[in-house]
Parts: sequence; C-alpha cells; structure tokens
Amino acid sequence: MFNPPLYQAFQAKGALSIDEYFRLAMYHPEHGYYAQHIPIGQDADYVTSPEISQVFGELIGLWCIDTWQKLGSPSKIALVELGPGRGTLMRDLLRVSNLVPAFAKALSIHLIEASALLKQIQSKKIYPITPTWHYDLTSLPDLPCLIIANEFFDALPHKQYQTYQGQWFERMVTLNDHELIWTLAPDPTDLDIPVKEGSFTEVPQEGSQILHQLSTHLSRNTGACLIIDYGTSAHPWYGDTFQALHHHKKCSPLASPGTCDLTFHVNFHHLEQQFHQKKIHVEPVVSQAHFLKSLGIEHRTAQLQHMPQAALASYRLISAQHMGQLFKVLGASSPHISLLGFA
Ligand code: SAH
Repeated sequence: MFNPPLYQAFQAKGALSIDEYFRLAMYHPEHGYYAQHIPIGQDADYVTSPEISQVFGELIGLWCIDTWQKLGSPSKIALVELGPGRGTLMRDLLRVSNLVPAFAKALSIHLIEASALLKQIQSKKIYPITPTWHYDLTSLPDLPCLIIANEFFDALPHKQYQTYQGQWFERMVTLNDHELIWTLAPDPTDLDIPVKEGSFTEVPQEGSQILHQLSTHLSRNTGACLIIDYGTSAHPWYGDTFQALHHHKKCSPLASPGTCDLTFHVNFHHLEQQFHQKKIHVEPVVSQAHFLKSLGIEHRTAQLQHMPQAALASYRLISAQHMGQLFKVLGASSPHISLLGFA
C-alpha cells in the first residue's frame, strides 16, 4: 500500500479532509514527504527564487538593512525565516549584512523548519553562524524582529470547499478500491463566501494560525515582515489550486501521497485581513517583478556580468512569463514604517 499511515487513517475514518490528508502525506515523521525527500533543487521536485539567483537573497538582505535602520537600528534584532529550505536565501542575505557591521552584529538567527533533513542542510549552508530552530513562532525571543517567508505559506495545509446544490461542502479524499478519489463531507458548511455553482474555494487554515502568531509577535515586539509567494489577492476567492509536483512536473495531488510536493496558491487578501485585525500596517501587495526592480535587481545583475547565467536567472525572477507576476510580495510593519520595494 502506498502510505501506511494514510491507509490506516482511511480505514479508521472513511474519508479525510484535505488538510488531514495533506498533513499525513507531507509531515508524517516516518512516511511523510519531508521525512524522505529534499524537495528543492534542480534534481528534486521544484526550484525557488533563492536557488535560481543569489541576487534574490542579496536584495532581501538590503531590504533588511534598510528596515532595521527605519526601526531605529536596534542593538539586537531577531532575523526570523519561516521555511528556509536549503538555507540559500539566508546565506546570501547574511553575506550582504556584513556591508553594515552594526547590523550584522545586532542579528540573532531564528529558523522555523519542519524537515529534519532540511535543518541539516541549513546548518551547513550558513556555518559558522549558528541559528536557533523553532517549531513555531511562539518560542521566538522578545526582541524587535525581521521575519521573512519565501514560498512558505503555499506549503501549508488548507481546507477546500465545493458547491453542491446551492451549498458549500468540505472537499474530502477517500479510498475506493485501492484508488484515492475526491468526495464531499456529508453535511454542508456555512462559509462567508457567496455560493457560486460549480466552484471551489480554499481556506488557509494552518496559515491563519501561523499568521495569528506572527502578527501577535510583531505587534508585541515591533518589526517587519516580508511574505513572498505565488497566489492571488482576489476576493472572494474561487478556485482549486491544490497541486502536486514531482521532478518539476505537475501531477494529481492524489497520485502518490508522500512522494510529491503538495501546495496551494496563497490568498493574500486573507493575509492582509489578518494583519489589519491586529492593526498592523500592510503595504499594498505588489508583484515580485515590482518589488525586485525597485530594490535594484537590474543594477545588481549588471554587476554580475562575469557570471554567464546571472542575466537569465534574474529574467526568470521578474519576467511575466516566469515568476514576475504570479509571485506577489506583502510587507507589513509595526509600528508603521515605509518599507522599501512597495512604492
Ligand atoms: N524558503 C525556501 C523553501 C521554500 S519550500 C526557499 O525559498 O527556497 C517550503 C519550506 O517550508 C521548506 O523548508 C519546508 O520544509 C518548510 N515547511 C513546510 N511546512 C512547514 C511547517 N508547517 N512548519 C515549518 N516549516 C515548514
């Protein structure tokens, strides 16, 4: 059988909600995707912006220096990364931090990572700097903070709902004759989204919990946060973006749980709302192209002429055909400071 804990869960419950299915497929300590796979890299399932170009992490490093200065150059600041992957963004960011020694000296590094395999890679990548790993944001130190999350919120469990006869029903997965198939919960769910026949919607259930921790931490300690991901600001949001990637190719999210990477598009409207509820200032969400261009990607790329791939890599980050438009950037701060990259 494909995945023993999933099989047992289907035996016990009949059907699983999408977030339950996602958790077992991705996070099970023995059979989950993260326990067995290193997801990011040319020879893995997908690549991310920091793996495409060093310029990505460097520009975020400049953003951090600027934000630290706008926060009054505190003598201690926690630099927090959610889901640091192979640690590449952090390595490139830390290289740039040395341009301003007082900033580099103020930093303590905090990483929030679910994968034991990736923790080992992160540790080697940023050596000799020693980070502190956390399970979630509740154990972060009470210090001013800079929080970075690139392609993190897309990797969290979501719930999905589907319309059926004028009502929303939670979408579920069940096992039918050795094959996984979609089904619906027996009872309807009340959602704050108008019913549109034949449509889906998604609720970032775990992302909301993490954002609650994040905004609580920001408002208590002061600081700023940068969330970069693929997604939409459309509201209300209708769509089914649950997808699986295996060796850079899309496949059905039900095809092979535990061996494919599973993700959803991020609902930026939802993130903004949550910050607003905590009275945290949010800059208008911009495209990745807008953000990186206003931080000077073209100028930095021109300096790297000796590296033959640099121009093509930067093009992938900002062109509309690649990551430039689908990827969005949200900046939030408490107290309100004017963050670089959004004007
Ligand atoms: N930011 C990196 C990696 C993005 S992939 C980059 O840009 O390359 C998603 C990352 O989030 C991985 O490091 C993954 O292990 C981590 N992750 C996924 N779910 C998580 C969770 N619930 N808690 C902490 N880390 C998680």
